[in-house]
Amino acid sequence: MQHWKGTAATVLAGMAGGFAVGAVQAQGQTEGQIQERFEIAITVDDLTAHGKLPQGMTRAGIAEAHIAAFRAHGVPEAYGFVNALRVKEDPESEAVLGLWRAAGYPLGNHTFSHLNIDKAESLEAWEADVLAGEPLVQAYMSAEGGYYFRFPNLAAGKEPARAEAAQAFLKGRHYHIADVSVAFADWNYTDAYARCLARGDMATIEAMKGRYLRDVDAGIVRMKAVSQRVYGRIIPQVLLTHIGGWSAMMLPEVLERLDAAGATYVTLAQAQSDPAYAEPGGGSVMERTAKRQGIDLSGLPQTESSSEVKTYCR
Ligand SMILES: [Zn+2]
Repeated sequence: MQHWKGTAATVLAGMAGGFAVGAVQAQGQTEGQIQERFEIAITVDDLTAHGKLPQGMTRAGIAEAHIAAFRAHGVPEAYGFVNALRVKEDPESEAVLGLWRAAGYPLGNHTFSHLNIDKAESLEAWEADVLAGEPLVQAYMSAEGGYYFRFPNLAAGKEPARAEAAQAFLKGRHYHIADVSVAFADWNYTDAYARCLARGDMATIEAMKGRYLRDVDAGIVRMKAVSQRVYGRIIPQVLLTHIGGWSAMMLPEVLERLDAAGATYVTLAQAQSDPAYAEPGGGSVMERTAKRQGIDLSGLPQTESSSEVKTYCR
């Protein structure tokens, strides 16, 4: 399932081909240099189940691996966004929600069935999917402080009328919108990993690991460069990752890289209290803001699309 569409596809996919080694990369990644600190909130989408379940794993085990990695790196909060349909399909996976709350981490609504607003038959159909997602989240979270909502595929509505109506609807339900500034396209790897593991193709899995960590390194470099160009500073970031077997395995290394890059982990509310998050919308907040303000992002270090990883071990 592709999780980042529309305008944002260009953001994360970036340009195919060469990785431009720019001044920012040299500054940011040279070993031994002091890294500029930045704040980052962690958000985890598609609870209770993202993608194929790799052999030997359980949904609860995937959640436990996430929580253990976050604890090991001092992550004070990892906001989990729930598709209640996953629990209907696999009742055992509801254990994920109990584990998440027991760890002290909050849960928000990601619609019942992961319905992309631009693919919904009507605005009403989409709103119904938002409403259907509420009871399960409410069963685990008190209303205190209000509920958070994350748009599936980060699609907030291509058509302005639908987008505005959706914002008004969510405001009427007192939702905070969970924005995103950075992701490493873990969703391209999840199903391929499960297939390669089932086939015992460890060589391909090793290649995928190396590639993903290069994606992460390049993504961090680009994140900093885009933020500097758009805001003249590194704004508090919001990372999007997904609760699948791939990320359960890779998160420790991803968090090590974020640590090395200067990350200080904060809550979603702390990150979004920054004025950079004042205007809601789809995709990544940094690219969205660049587009709205006519800021040219050319010449910055690029990330390479990993979309062909989705075809591995088919
Ligand atoms: Zn999602």
